[in-house]
Amino acid sequence: MASIYFHIPFCKKACHYCNFHFSTNLKNKDFLIDSIIKELKLRKNELNNQLVDSVYFGGGSPSILEINDIRKLIENVFLNFHLNEKSEITLEVNPDDIKGDEYLDLYKNIGINRISIGVQSFSNEDLKLINRSHNSSQALNVIEKVKNKFENFSLDLIYGIPNTDLKGWFKNIDIALSFLPKHISAYSLTIEPGTVLYNWIKKNKVIPLDENIVLDQFNYLIGSLEKKGYNHYEISSFAKPGYYSKHNTSYWKGINYLGLGPSAHSFDGEIRSWNVSNNNQYIKSIEKNTLPIQRENLTKVDKYNEYIMTGLRTIWGVSIQKIKKDFGDNFFSLLEQNVEKHISRKNLFWEKGVLKTSKKGRFLIDGIISDLFLINK
Ligand code: SF4
Repeated sequence: MASIYFHIPFCKKACHYCNFHFSTNLKNKDFLIDSIIKELKLRKNELNNQLVDSVYFGGGSPSILEINDIRKLIENVFLNFHLNEKSEITLEVNPDDIKGDEYLDLYKNIGINRISIGVQSFSNEDLKLINRSHNSSQALNVIEKVKNKFENFSLDLIYGIPNTDLKGWFKNIDIALSFLPKHISAYSLTIEPGTVLYNWIKKNKVIPLDENIVLDQFNYLIGSLEKKGYNHYEISSFAKPGYYSKHNTSYWKGINYLGLGPSAHSFDGEIRSWNVSNNNQYIKSIEKNTLPIQRENLTKVDKYNEYIMTGLRTIWGVSIQKIKKDFGDNFFSLLEQNVEKHISRKNLFWEKGVLKTSKKGRFLIDGIISDLFLINK
């Protein structure tokens, strides 16, 4: 089993918190799509004819593309890889890109069977602060349209936005739940260096949200979604049973994935690789039949750290048996020593030979994971 990820590196405007690779200049859009198709053909043997369970269009803003661009990409996936009727084909959409129902029909006709909508918040003040290109009523309209056409859709939300309070966040969750989405991704706002928000905070133009309010928002999120029957299967991901995102799951379970387009990452079980984060360099390199790729061979310690990170962020946890089998008894002894502190603080617990993150530990997960990481010698 494997998955394919397309990074579409274009956006209408820059969100104030974003540090993904994208350009607001669409001048080279057609060249770039042709280059991605060429990259796909150059790398078609990398998945060794495994079944492609998930194709995911992310970015950037894939919904900025014309239908024909997405159609060409999907056609080439079908021509060069092995998929079946259960393969999930997801398109991320921004609410302001979907102008009418006909768009959604066309998406369906070209094979998209799952839509992920970048809502982030239903409050216009929040959307303005983070500089999203849509407003709340556009989001409400699009969700209604998508709900009528796609059984499987997901909503993206962000908590921890400056100036928000609990009431506003409760409202966001209630509105999101009223549409009965099969999947919700909710991310804590991270303030990345180099972003507008980061500079505003440095200049005291914006005050970051108090940690305790962020924690209350996170706890409310978990409580209300679990009450409605969503499984909290990964720190930022909630789904109704049977609707876990195949794209997310392949990443969390260490399944091979092929990332196409500028800045896209790939993993084949041994080697992690990533494409250049520059649209022009990417196009020029592909023109010369050279992959604009950097590669990193994972050491045993890297693979162990990766397993700790993905295991503890998900409901699948970290299995003693796997640690002993894949990494040896020494690694298990180190893990046992390092987790003690977090077991006694009730951040982690053992369940039938599997180390899992408690509700309390979920909010502290990044710190816990880095405590357990081993260092390459
Ligand atoms: S739409 Fe997404 S990728 Fe584009 S700037 Fe906003 S957060 Fe970044």
